[in-house]
Amino acid sequence: MPDLVITNARLPRSEHLVSVAIEGGKIATPPAAGAAQPANVIDARGGLLTPALVEPHIHLDAVLTVGQPRHNLSGSLFEGIAIWGERVKDLTVDDVKRRVAQVLRWQVANGVLFVRSHVDVCDPKLTALRALLEVREEFADQITLQLVAFPQQGIQSFPDGEALMRRAVEMGADVVGGIPHFELTREYGEQSVKFAVALAHEFNKLVDIHCDETDDEHSRFLEVLAAETIRLNMQGRVTASHTTAMHSYNNAYAGRLIVNVARAGLHMVTNPLDNAVLQGRFDHYPIRRGHTRVKELLAAGVNVCLGHDSVMDPWYPLGKADPLQAAFTLAHYGQMSGFEEIRTLIDMITVNGARALGLRDYGLEPGCRADLVLFDAPSESDAIRLMAPRRLVIRAGKVVARTEPATSVVTWKGREEPVDFMPKRPS
Ligand SMILES: [Zn+2]
Repeated sequence: MPDLVITNARLPRSEHLVSVAIEGGKIATPPAAGAAQPANVIDARGGLLTPALVEPHIHLDAVLTVGQPRHNLSGSLFEGIAIWGERVKDLTVDDVKRRVAQVLRWQVANGVLFVRSHVDVCDPKLTALRALLEVREEFADQITLQLVAFPQQGIQSFPDGEALMRRAVEMGADVVGGIPHFELTREYGEQSVKFAVALAHEFNKLVDIHCDETDDEHSRFLEVLAAETIRLNMQGRVTASHTTAMHSYNNAYAGRLIVNVARAGLHMVTNPLDNAVLQGRFDHYPIRRGHTRVKELLAAGVNVCLGHDSVMDPWYPLGKADPLQAAFTLAHYGQMSGFEEIRTLIDMITVNGARALGLRDYGLEPGCRADLVLFDAPSESDAIRLMAPRRLVIRAGKVVARTEPATSVVTWKGREEPVDFMPKRPS
């Protein structure tokens, strides 16, 4: 007998209402009609039920620092870097942990139970990493964290960069990062990618590189990452984040590159919130979108997922750690408004992210761990359109967050009427 059954749920890419059973913290086969039902039944009332949301790209060490010590008046990447350079001097383990603990709660309320965070390791004391390693253990029952050793100022271009990366991995980072387009020279950039993949290979870790996050069409480190992945047989273990320069490559080059990205089995992460505001800053009209080629990558069979990147930091002052905001933005910015494309946006914040993070037992099939989100909306399209509240978030079979949807009431011709923003069919 299951511990809990969720009835009248609608699963992604389906029109039918089904029951989902949970037993021992895992998805189980629902009891047959007419069989005894468990005492604990939740009526989803036609709401969309998905696996827990996955955040594949965030910088937790910088969250909630907006305005410290000053606001970014231009909104540009470079003013953001200058401000972070001032703020980082005050970084302590307690300061980082306090801010991160707040945002992790926001994420759980939004249905996010799996997070990959980049952590700046260009610091001889590795303060942010020490804080995040503690957080990863302290909140392991609430949320699963993967930490990337991220060299914000480069590996070859920062004093003792290689040694700091190695130390970060030895201390417990799960993933090796990089930022080749920010290194002092093209050669350093290439070297940094080769170093990162080799280090991950040596320690049996994953790779996630901030790759070609620039509008410079000559920034071509993704091809190096694909080649190194193939050479060291790391297919399926390597992610490229941002790759905004691909927007500006000539089509012949981009076409060949996408074939090699697919061959290398790279996972791709696009971050539409930050890149919508940071790219194209050197352009006069027309201003480029500065965004990777999401549709072309998906069409080539590449796993593409969607990240939030920043939450209220010097680069991006907005956000509440909700992947639906990123999905809503990509629907517009990446022109993914087709019927199936909107469904794909939900894949990009669930199953695609899970593949990039290498999660096991993830999904809705019997035997998977019962990590679930119930939306206050009947379809993928309504979930994104309304940024629908997550009525329930379930981790290993237990409810870990609830949201009561707000009620709007209008006074219409002297009568109070509720409004729920759902079209009413003629009765
Ligand atoms: Zn990033």
